[in-house]
Amino acid sequence: MVFKVGGDIDAYCTKCRLDTIHVVVALKPGNEGPKRVECKSCGGQHMYHAPKLPSRTEAPSQPAVVNRSAAARNPPPPKPPKAAKPAAAKAAALSAPAGAGAREWLRRMEDLAHQGGTPIRPYSMRETFAAGDPVSHPKFGKGVVLEVIEAKKCAILFEEGRKVLAMGGA
Ligand SMILES: [Zn+2]
Repeated sequence: MVFKVGGDIDAYCTKCRLDTIHVVVALKPGNEGPKRVECKSCGGQHMYHAPKLPSRTEAPSQPAVVNRSAAARNPPPPKPPKAAKPAAAKAAALSAPAGAGAREWLRRMEDLAHQGGTPIRPYSMRETFAAGDPVSHPKFGKGVVLEVIEAKKCAILFEEGRKVLAMGGA
């Protein structure tokens, strides 16, 4: 790679504490690489530091969601003896007798998955939620807000059932 003064380069900015685009200000002798760079983000000049993360130009980034769903569609080859087990176990779980709450929970989770893009917010009693909001709870896992009972109370459906939790508190 040939570097030139005035050219753009990805570098680690010591002020932004991030990889940002920099302009090369000075080169090392013999064009060995950039010596001094200016951050396009904060305008600060500093010694060149290699980016902490792989260069954006080398690895065209795909949205993480796409990567995840691609991975889900093409799981790594399962170990031979247990090849059919995971799917069978899942099917059994789906058809197993479950409480109405669990079935409803599953349906709501599928609905949310189909809607896509609705961010799941971590449950906190300091947050305020609205009916239909997907939440994740450290103990109960993923759930969806069924209704707001009163200003500081909401009912959330988790896999193990409906829970009334505080919200909007101090
Ligand atoms: Zn900077």
